[in-house]
Amino acid sequence: MIVVMKERASESQVDSVIARLIELGMDVHRSSGSTRTVLGVVGTGKVQVDKEIIEILDGVHEVMRITEPYKRASRSYRPDKTIVTLGDVRIGGDEVIVMAGPCSAETEEQCEAAAAAVKRAGAKVFRGGAFKPRSSPYSFQGHGEAGLKMLRQASDAHGLKLISEVMDVSQIELIAKYCDIFQVGARNMQNYTLLRELGHARKPVLVKRGISATIEEWLLSAEYILAGGNNDVILCERGIRTFETATRNTFDISAIPVVHKLSHLPVVADPSHGAGRRDMVPQLARAAVAAGADGLLIEVHADPDHAWSDGAQSMYPDQFDRLMAELRIIAPAIGRSICLEAVSRPGRSR
Ligand code: PEP
Ligand code: MN
Repeated sequence: MIVVMKERASESQVDSVIARLIELGMDVHRSSGSTRTVLGVVGTGKVQVDKEIIEILDGVHEVMRITEPYKRASRSYRPDKTIVTLGDVRIGGDEVIVMAGPCSAETEEQCEAAAAAVKRAGAKVFRGGAFKPRSSPYSFQGHGEAGLKMLRQASDAHGLKLISEVMDVSQIELIAKYCDIFQVGARNMQNYTLLRELGHARKPVLVKRGISATIEEWLLSAEYILAGGNNDVILCERGIRTFETATRNTFDISAIPVVHKLSHLPVVADPSHGAGRRDMVPQLARAAVAAGADGLLIEVHADPDHAWSDGAQSMYPDQFDRLMAELRIIAPAIGRSICLEAVSRPGRSR
């Protein structure tokens, strides 16, 4: 970092700032101009120094960071993109990977119908929650292990990988038995105990952006997992809370190129939670692919009008089919591919 001293900082103030920085394990390079002294500070140890503790020292005018506070998640640490591989599914490569399914596992029949629909349209990963982080304690909380079984069965029946949410450290072992990818929800992005534990898991982790998290905070959450030794981290932009009320959240499309610039980790977009309404999901999904998203996470339900959670934002299967067909036009335009295995079928138009 760079420490700029005040114009009238005394020699003894400069000396004590330098002494404090050295005490904190930093190398300090001093340059004194005619009006100000500037200190170039380079860390030597593992411990990171908060700029705030230097800013309050006597005689200091300003402190600027020149490196990111995260390390393993940064592009400078790893210039090549990370590709998270699950058998023949590669997240972060040329192909845009679509993960789709219901918000929650409700019944065996519902999981089966959703898995059949998303597979037919070209999704590679089935999504669905068995442990649901609901705003109200009176809303459906998920079926737990029974839900995981339904999701796994439906995924296997259609050759899909499975992603499901983990809300607590105590659920990791159980969810690992059924899922291929752990999902950390927006509300848990700052559950550092959970993130730390997932750093020891041997399965990929998708980390959703918290509803009021900055991109830096989100990357620091990913850093917790990477620091534990798990390199398979996927980021997911799902909309943030702003003053706007027309949509459930404000989908931050710019987060996609920003993260690609700052980090080597794949970025997936969740337009369902971003919009909160199914009639706006296709527009956001198309925009996310055009902006370079490595994948999409979309809620699809065979009967969304009767879904037990997030029905309003869950797509009808035929709507999802149409979206996938559109994405097959957009992806190649930006040098990406998308699953071409979809089986066409006569469908209603909605
Ligand atoms: C979900 O994916 O169903 C979910 C609860 O998402 P989020 O954590 O983004 O709200
Ligand atoms: Mn949901």
